Amino acid sequence: QAQSGHAVPVIGIVAGRGRQWTAGDLPACVVEWLASPIRASDVQARLDIAMAQRPAVAQRPAAPPAPGDQYRFAFDGSLDELALVDPASGRILDVNDTFVRRSGYARTRLIGSRIDGFDFVLGADRRDALAQRLASESSVGVRARKPRADGGTYPVDVNIRNAMHQERVVLFYTFREIEELSRLQEAMVALLRVAQGDDRDRAEAIVRGIAEWLGLDVVVAIETGVDNVPEPKAAAAYHRFEIDEGASARYDGLLRQVLAGEEIVLGHDAWAAPAIDLSLRERRFECVLGVPVRGERQDCVGALLMARRDPMTVDMAVLAGLRLFGHALGAEFELRRAREQGRSDGLRDPLTGLPNRLLFNDRLNSAIAEAHRGSEMLAVIFVDVDRFKTINDSLGHAVGDQVLVAVARRLKATVRGTDTVARYAGDEFTLILRHIVQRDDVMRIAEKIVRAMEVPLQLADGLELSITTSLGVSFYPDDATDAERLLKQADVAMYSAKGMGRNNFQAYVAVSEESHRQRLALEAKLRQAERNGELRVFFQPQVDALSEDIVGMEALLRWEHPELGMISPGFFVPLAEETGLIISIGEWVLQAACREARRWQQEYGVRLRLGVNLSPLQLRQPTLVRTVESVLQQTGLEARMLDLEVTESISAKSIPNLITTLNGLRELGCGVSLDDFGTGQSSLDYIKRFPADSIKIDQAFVRNIGLDPDDEAIVRATLSMAHDLNCKVVAEGVETEEHFQFLRNEGCDVLQGFLFCRPLSVASFDNLLKERARLLGAGTPQPV
Ligand code: C2E
Ligand code: CA
Ligand code: CA
Repeated sequence: QAQSGHAVPVIGIVAGRGRQWTAGDLPACVVEWLASPIRASDVQARLDIAMAQRPAVAQRPAAPPAPGDQYRFAFDGSLDELALVDPASGRILDVNDTFVRRSGYARTRLIGSRIDGFDFVLGADRRDALAQRLASESSVGVRARKPRADGGTYPVDVNIRNAMHQERVVLFYTFREIEELSRLQEAMVALLRVAQGDDRDRAEAIVRGIAEWLGLDVVVAIETGVDNVPEPKAAAAYHRFEIDEGASARYDGLLRQVLAGEEIVLGHDAWAAPAIDLSLRERRFECVLGVPVRGERQDCVGALLMARRDPMTVDMAVLAGLRLFGHALGAEFELRRAREQGRSDGLRDPLTGLPNRLLFNDRLNSAIAEAHRGSEMLAVIFVDVDRFKTINDSLGHAVGDQVLVAVARRLKATVRGTDTVARYAGDEFTLILRHIVQRDDVMRIAEKIVRAMEVPLQLADGLELSITTSLGVSFYPDDATDAERLLKQADVAMYSAKGMGRNNFQAYVAVSEESHRQRLALEAKLRQAERNGELRVFFQPQVDALSEDIVGMEALLRWEHPELGMISPGFFVPLAEETGLIISIGEWVLQAACREARRWQQEYGVRLRLGVNLSPLQLRQPTLVRTVESVLQQTGLEARMLDLEVTESISAKSIPNLITTLNGLRELGCGVSLDDFGTGQSSLDYIKRFPADSIKIDQAFVRNIGLDPDDEAIVRATLSMAHDLNCKVVAEGVETEEHFQFLRNEGCDVLQGFLFCRPLSVASFDNLLKERARLLGAGTPQPV
């Protein structure tokens, strides 16, 4: 125990914990008690203060100076908020100027009030625990939020210790505003809490974390729109007080700036800033902050908007913390989008990434609804890759996949970004073109697509592949008003484009539903016809215009349907074209016709020219010349007896290498015949360059002989032009004596028509030749 006077401060040591000081306990000269065991550093610090009478200002809480004494200036001048508290009653004995200024309370209101209202953290149990610690540790620190007169709070580090003041023990409080680094630490802790937490709405947790961290009044997290919904929307919001109107709509100007990538930092007087939204100004927010929310690729995916009624020092720690929160939010937004994408994965084709049939149908329905509302037109385009099956079968699925991916890419490149391109099924793609003003605009796009597809494709292994597509177009509301029919009609139009020789586009032209259904049924039957041996070749004789003797025949295909009887090629050949069946059927016709021609030559000694029709599809086959060559070899027919009939309506444009192919056939020794002459739109100039050996005047002109002088003039002109070009002329559809006389007089070379003979079966043709031979003399074969 200290003996001497007050000049020597004494620090008392008591054994063990649990002892509480009271003012009456305190012997003279004892300025402090320490509980044993003591910490050396603690003792040292206390001794320093007691001996040197030097209150620590910056590093440690100041020793309690007596008011009015020489150290009052240190008490009042401290940057920390300081308070002296009576330990027994918990009432404030004194506060310094910083406390008054920062808390916003008047000194008179503070003195005599209970400290509980100001240290803010201490519930009854925590307060007891603190008192316990204080008994032994002499000073304790806690982190807390300190209230302000205006209702706001701010984060502080609180330090409480026992001290002597005017000869009694008091509690000496230091409130230090949390510094930059600690502020950042706080942000990290809050972020960690969000990251480790299992909040269902993480964006909400982030927003709340920010609000608590900086004591903000408003925090709104805005997410920018994706794809179809460009409007930004509030993903989460925190409002410390009721906001009567819709929150996000009120910060438009601010939002626009932040979404443009700008960081808005107004620590004070924000309400007076020139570019601030009216609602912020009205609320007299002192502090307004805006931070862009960035995604993984640093693109702006949203914004954080914050406001506070009280000013705030926005230092680097605050900014860095906000950016960290922003990144967490950006990651959250992207995660959500990825999840949504995942959900929509079932709606996308994994190979091309295009919407699949399901999503397409959904889009089509909403596009129709939209067009209906706006009284607008829309178009559906059905795209089918020509002969994709052949590509897949002959070159393999890997190449098939490359083709599909390329088609998808080219389709997307030819339409607007707002147009829908979908992979409907297999090699079928569908498009929706909205806001159509004129049908022609769509047809131009269709043509553009056809042309874009023609460009040779570079395959992964360096090979080049040419693909073509056939397109069908239908229009809402002209062709149909519901999605299903609109699509079906685009499909029908696509098939008619195939019938036109593929690599082509067609708009839907109404055909009756019934005939369409019949066609489908027929198509299935036609596939079996070839296998079941239901196809026949008939032969129509051709006669010399002068001698009227038979000089040739045209092979004409027939389908002997088990139930429907003989079906005309005019009906099923177009169907065979659309389905590609014509390729194998045509080869079969060629083979059968050449075989019969060779046999008749041998049996009856007649040298008849044979005409065989080629479809545009056959002419596209790069193997055509080789096929014809091998058929001639197998059947033994001389090439010069064979005429290959090519219809005039096919254009060299739609059939690559047409001229090369025809010349190849002529090199074999075959003749090329330009069929149905006059019906197409070929210019005379084109005819001149066309490698034909003969021209067949179409029935349409022959029919009008004696009726229409114009058509007669056309027949005359054709004859003279053909002869100028060294072409023979065959007239088709010669039905009357009048036709016959006219054509003979005008110098036509060969005639074909019902007047002379109908197309005959092989047996009938046999009989015809037998009869001819008998007439010519005693059955001896004679050359013609
Ligand atoms: P096309 O090449 O113009 O054949 C001539 C058509 O005229 C034949 O019709 C024939 O029966 C018909 N005909 C002949 N003389 C007369 C006549 O005096 N009056 C009338 N009104 N018609 C006459 P068919 O056999 O019905 O063939 C129609 C079309 O089918 C052919 O027209 C041809 O384009 C196509 N076709 C026929 N066979 C084949 C074939 O094997 N392959 C291909 N690709 N097409 C074929
Ligand atoms: Ca013909
Ligand atoms: Ca013809």
